[in-house]
Amino acid sequence: MPQGDEPTGRRLVKVTGIVQGVGFRPFVYNLALGLNLSGHVFNHSAGVDIEVEGTQDSLARFETDLTRLAPPLAHIISVTSAVIPPTGDKGFRITESDSGGAKTALIAPDSDVCEDCLRELFDPVDRRHRYPFINCTNCGPRFTIVEAIPYDRPNTTMASFVMCADCRAEYENPADRRFHAQPIACPVCGPKVTLLDSAFNPVEATDAVRGAARLLSEGAILAIKGIGGYHLACDAENEEAVLKLRARKRRDEKPFAVMTPDIETLRLFAEVNEREAAILQSRPHPITLVKKLQPDALGPCAPSNRYLGAMLPYSPLHHLLFDGKPYNALVMTSANLSDEPIVYTEDEAKEKLAGIADYFLIHNRPIHNKADDSIEKVMSHGPVVIRRSRGYTPVPIQLDREYPPTLAVGAELKNAFCLIKGDKAYLSAHMGDLKYESALESFRFGVSRLMEILDISNPAVVAHDMHPNYLSTAFAEEFPCERKVAVQHHHAHLVSLMAERHHTGQAIGVVFDGTGYGLDGTIWGGEFLVGDAAGFERHGTITPIPLIGGDAAIKEPYRIALGILFGMYGENLPPLPIEWLNNMEPARLALLRQAYYKKINVFYSSGMGRLFDAVSALIGVRPKASFEGQSAMELEMAVANGYHGEYPFIIGGDVNPANLDFTPTFERIVEEMKNGERAPVIAARFHETVAQSATAMVKRISGTTGLKDVFLSGGVFQNTVLSDRLGTLLETDGFAVFRHGRVPPNDGGVALGQAVIAARTLV
Ligand SMILES: [Zn+2]
Ligand SMILES: [Zn+2]
Ligand SMILES: [Zn+2]
Repeated sequence: MPQGDEPTGRRLVKVTGIVQGVGFRPFVYNLALGLNLSGHVFNHSAGVDIEVEGTQDSLARFETDLTRLAPPLAHIISVTSAVIPPTGDKGFRITESDSGGAKTALIAPDSDVCEDCLRELFDPVDRRHRYPFINCTNCGPRFTIVEAIPYDRPNTTMASFVMCADCRAEYENPADRRFHAQPIACPVCGPKVTLLDSAFNPVEATDAVRGAARLLSEGAILAIKGIGGYHLACDAENEEAVLKLRARKRRDEKPFAVMTPDIETLRLFAEVNEREAAILQSRPHPITLVKKLQPDALGPCAPSNRYLGAMLPYSPLHHLLFDGKPYNALVMTSANLSDEPIVYTEDEAKEKLAGIADYFLIHNRPIHNKADDSIEKVMSHGPVVIRRSRGYTPVPIQLDREYPPTLAVGAELKNAFCLIKGDKAYLSAHMGDLKYESALESFRFGVSRLMEILDISNPAVVAHDMHPNYLSTAFAEEFPCERKVAVQHHHAHLVSLMAERHHTGQAIGVVFDGTGYGLDGTIWGGEFLVGDAAGFERHGTITPIPLIGGDAAIKEPYRIALGILFGMYGENLPPLPIEWLNNMEPARLALLRQAYYKKINVFYSSGMGRLFDAVSALIGVRPKASFEGQSAMELEMAVANGYHGEYPFIIGGDVNPANLDFTPTFERIVEEMKNGERAPVIAARFHETVAQSATAMVKRISGTTGLKDVFLSGGVFQNTVLSDRLGTLLETDGFAVFRHGRVPPNDGGVALGQAVIAARTLV
C-alpha cells in the first residue's frame, strides 16, 4: 500500500449492537477500500471485529464514518478501538466468522422490503421479477429465520436452499447489494409459493400469487403464510366474506386488522395524520390504530370501534397480492382460533385452519421463530407499542448494568417472557393467552428457543407473577433453577417502565390495570406505588368494587355495575333509567341479588380497568362484552369532545394505602342519567374525574415523599383520553411524567419488570 512517507498504524476495532445480517461487513469492506486501508473484517459471536492498517488520517476517518455512514438496519451500541502492531498486509478481506467465545451478538429484527428490491420486483427484465422472496442486505426476514448465532446462512432456515451460480456470484461480490445477504434467493434456487385448496391439494395456476389474488377478489378466504406466521385474509370491503371469516374464526366482534396497498388508499377509510403515516411506514410496519372516517367504515372488520387497525404491505408477497389493485383493502388477521397462538407451520395450518380457509397460499421457507404483527397507537406523548412482536423482537432493552442470566415468565393474558443477558433485556414476541394449552406449549417452546439463540444454558434466577394460579407461575415453579422470585404484578408494571426509560431510584408509580394479584391475596389494579426495582410501598389504591360472579364479570360488566347499585341503594333498587336492568328477568335479578348479599362468588377488586367496565355498563355503552377490555375501550370511544367538568370523589385514610373512593362519582352519574344526560358527556366527565383524582393522589404522595417523577403504567394507559389528560395535569403541577413507548403498558411488558426486579436480588 503506497503511503509515501506518512506513518502507518494498525487498529483492532470491535463493534457491538445489531451489526450482523444488516450488510455491515460489506459496508466496512467498501469503507476500508475507499480509504486505502488494508486488513480484514469478520463476524464474531459478540459483534463484528475489524483490523485496519493505513495512515493515521485514514484510520481516524474510518472510525468516524463507521458510525456516521452505517447501513440502515444496523444499530450500533458500542465501538472500541485498540492500537496493535502493523503487519504490512495488502488489500482488505472479509474473513470467515468466528463462532467461539461468548455469544452476545444481536440479531436484527425482520424488516420490510426495501425500495431497491421493490423496484426489481416489478421490473419485467429483472431476474427476480415477481419473485416473492426477493431481499438484500438492507431488507428481508431476519429473526424469524434465525436458529443460532452468529447470523450466517447455515444458522438460518435458508440452510437447505443451495445457492445457484448467479446468487452465489452476487453473494460473493463485495460491490453487490446482496454481498453476504444470508437469505439471498431467486426463482431458480430459492423458496417457492404454492396455492392449495382447502384439502391441501395443489390448485392449477400458472402464477400462484395471481391465482390467490383472483380468489381473494372473488370473496374467498385464504390462509397466507407470511414472515412470522400465517394470516387469514379476505377482501375487507366484501361484507359477506368478512362475516364468513368471523363465523368460522369464532370471533364475534374483536377487530380484524386490515392491509391497504398504500396510505392514500387507507385514507378512503380512515384519518391518517403525519405521525401515524410515519409509524405505518417505519421498518417494523406495525398494525397502527387510525381513526375511521365514518363509524361504519369497512363495516364488520371493526364493528362498534372508532379505530381501524391498519398496516401496509411489508413483504414482497404482500406487494404482489396488491399488484393491479384487485381490492382496496384485505383483512389480514393472525391465523388462529380466537386467542390461541398464531399458526406458523404447514402441519398446524393443515390441522387448525382447514375449516376456516377456502385456500392456502404457502411457501417452503420455514419460520423458526414465530411473530405476530406488532400493534401501535400514536398518543400525544408519542407512539406506544401495544403488542410487541415482528419488527421489534429481538431488539433488546439496554439496562443500567450487567446482571446474571435471568428468565422472567410474564403474566397470563397477552403473555411475553423476558431474558436478561449481560446488560440487555430481551422481551419475547407476543405469546398470547396462556390459559390455552396451545399457547402454553408455544410459550415453553419459545423460552427454550430464545435461550438457545442467546446461548443461555441456565438462568441464575427465574421470576414469576405472585398469582398462584397462573400457568406461567406453574411453569416457573417446575423450571430447573434453584432460585425463584415471585414478583407483585403492579410492581413489575412500574419497573418495566422504569427499565424502558432507564430510570433508577425511587419514583411514584400510577399503575392502572385490569387484574393483578396483590400482596394481601386480594385483586389489585388501581395502584399508587412508591418504589424502584429493589422494592415498593403501596401508598394509595382505589376502594375495591364487587365483582358478582368473579371472572364472569370481566365479560359481563353489568354484574359490576349491579354490585355498585346494590351498594348505593340496598337490595330494593328504585326505578332507574337503565335499559339492561329494566329488561332483566326478575328471577335472574333475584339470583344476582342473592349472590351479592350472601357473598356467593363475589370478589372485590381495586382494578381500574374494572371501574371503567362498570361505568361503561352502567350508562349502557357496553353492558356485556365479547372480549376482555371491550367495555372499557368503548367507554373511551364514547367520550364527547371538549371539557364537560368532573364528578366528586373522596380520598381518605391516614395510613398507607390511602383510599380513592368513587362512590360519590357513581351517585352523581346515576343522578345525571335520571336527568337524561347523554352517555358521551358522562363518559367525558368520568375520564376527567379519574385524571383529576389520580393527580390529587399523586400530589398527596409527593407531599409526604418529596418525589416528583411519576410513571404511568398498566393496561388502562392504552386509553389515550386518560393518558393524555393525566399527563397534562401532572405536568402542569410540575411533575416529570414518564409513559411507555417501545414496551407495552399492558401485560405484554410485565416480564421486563419481573426480570429486572429478580436480577436485582442477585447483585
Ligand atoms: Zn432489499
Ligand atoms: Zn439463485
Ligand atoms: Zn397487568
